[in-house]
Amino acid sequence: MKSRDTAPASNFIRSIIEADIKANRNDGKVVTRFPPEPNGYLHIGHAKSICLNFGLAAEYGGTCHLRFDDTNPIKEEVEYIESIKHDVSWLGFDWGRHLYYASDYFGQLYECARELIRRGRAFVCDLSGEEIREYRGTLTEPGKDSPYRNRTVEENLDLFRRMKEGEFEEGSRVLRARIDMASGNLNMRDPVIYRILKAYHHRTGDKWCIYPMYDFAHCLSDSIEGITHSICTLEFEDHRPLYDWILDALDAENHPQQIEFARLNLTYTVMSKRKLMQLVDGGYVSGWDDPRMPTVSGLRRRGYTPASIRNFCEKIGVAKRDSVVDIALLEHCVRDDLNRRAPRAMGVLRPLRVVIENYPVDRTEELDAVNNPEDASAGTRKIPFSRVIYIERDDFREAPPKKFFRLAPGREVRLRYAYFVKCTGVVKDENTGEIKELRCTYDPETRGGESPPDGRKVKATLHWVSAEHAARVEVRLYDRLFSEPVPDRGKGGPDFMSFINPDSLEVLPECYVEPGLADAEPGSICQFERLGYFCVDTRDSKPGAPVFNRTVTLRDTWARIEKSRKKGKK
Ligand code: ATP
Ligand code: MG
Repeated sequence: MKSRDTAPASNFIRSIIEADIKANRNDGKVVTRFPPEPNGYLHIGHAKSICLNFGLAAEYGGTCHLRFDDTNPIKEEVEYIESIKHDVSWLGFDWGRHLYYASDYFGQLYECARELIRRGRAFVCDLSGEEIREYRGTLTEPGKDSPYRNRTVEENLDLFRRMKEGEFEEGSRVLRARIDMASGNLNMRDPVIYRILKAYHHRTGDKWCIYPMYDFAHCLSDSIEGITHSICTLEFEDHRPLYDWILDALDAENHPQQIEFARLNLTYTVMSKRKLMQLVDGGYVSGWDDPRMPTVSGLRRRGYTPASIRNFCEKIGVAKRDSVVDIALLEHCVRDDLNRRAPRAMGVLRPLRVVIENYPVDRTEELDAVNNPEDASAGTRKIPFSRVIYIERDDFREAPPKKFFRLAPGREVRLRYAYFVKCTGVVKDENTGEIKELRCTYDPETRGGESPPDGRKVKATLHWVSAEHAARVEVRLYDRLFSEPVPDRGKGGPDFMSFINPDSLEVLPECYVEPGLADAEPGSICQFERLGYFCVDTRDSKPGAPVFNRTVTLRDTWARIEKSRKKGKK
């Protein structure tokens, strides 16, 4: 695994593990796991869990398993398995030979269920799903015992075998743990641990028509693999007694410790596979890897780097209380990383033609531009300059308001790495009045953008490209997927879909970039000066016709938030 980007902050999970090592529990070993259900693509919340589990294992010289929790044949697909493996490796983690599937344990799990029956701790129940719910009771009222609760061991073993052989219809019978219908914890009221599903499984085919429930499969898979610390999100806190009960009831040799932490929530997005799938299926985004999605594949396509995501996961830390993290922090992390590694370039998103009237018609100059001011070893490159250039439409105002220091009639500005130019004329469309082009003059004594001998100063530096040499490309700008900071208020709140931002994607079909970027590699990232970081789209770019996704602008709103917070404290 890659080295850490920031020193690890201590947290309660690290404290637990350190205490365990000190007490020589589990012979001082640390074995964790990341157990995704292959029913969708991974999102940034999963990245938090991945960084935590793989990170802790690496820190304490242990191992981390990648285990597919593939116990539900109906919603799972091989496509998801492949994408999950790819995402975990891309994030920089290596499971080595520890790749597992819960479905590989189906035989063992079946034997465990039979053992529970033999020990009088499980029974076959013929109540329907609805009846089971009715019998369960509520938070304030105890449940009622199932009439099938006192079947003999022999009868239970026989019925369970016949369930497995496919003799019964789906939903007609289930296997339940025999715990306590009066328990204050609803999960302990004789929970279902096996159900009949006559479904094809992507790994076991038609071998099984009964499938274990999550709570039963998970603790046993952990135990079978010798997991020491089973780290999961807070919603499993109420399931921990069941986790422990099953392992105790079977006298499991290895009894992992379940530890819960708060899941990651981010502003302006949703974070559940089911909801993300709704966005995909409804055509609101172009797919799981749409650059607006909070999925690992979407972030990658958008231009996020593994280091920036790992760094983010370290910064947010782990806690026991649910909270919502400001998406500005994630953006801050990617800016921070790309600032160091992204080569600079010039690109014009909304072009305005500028003719430099005193520049010779057939001349082209090669000017020197710095590749990365943060990294001297990145060197310089040549960029062509000629009589006709493009600048950003936004950088010109015919009637400049106060504090607008960029180009205006009669005003002089610097063209980055090139010359001082002065606006001498505005050419408009006769019918519409739209500005078609600008006329300028340049000062040959300012080559490279240097100040002239007379010490004249300008208040703005603009980016530009040479019209004749520039490559025409498509650029896609992204905004937040939802217009509300917390689109998903849960039960009773408005539906998150009603907060979809209709303007989250803006396509600019006619942009111009430095000629050197005409063949930019898909997946490569650069900074367009003054505009942000951009990543060459891996799906829609063609040789010689790159499509650029804006990863993030240069304005660091997180730094501003931090600053005002510090001020507030003083
Ligand atoms: P979702 O609700 O998005 O479908 P899930 O919990 O059902 O997520 P799993 O594939 O079961 O997804 O999760 C694999 C692991 O990732 C689990 O250990 C789970 O606790 C963890 N995980 C899922 N979502 C988050 C999150 N938002 N923050 C931190 N960890 C998460
Ligand atoms: Mg799940």
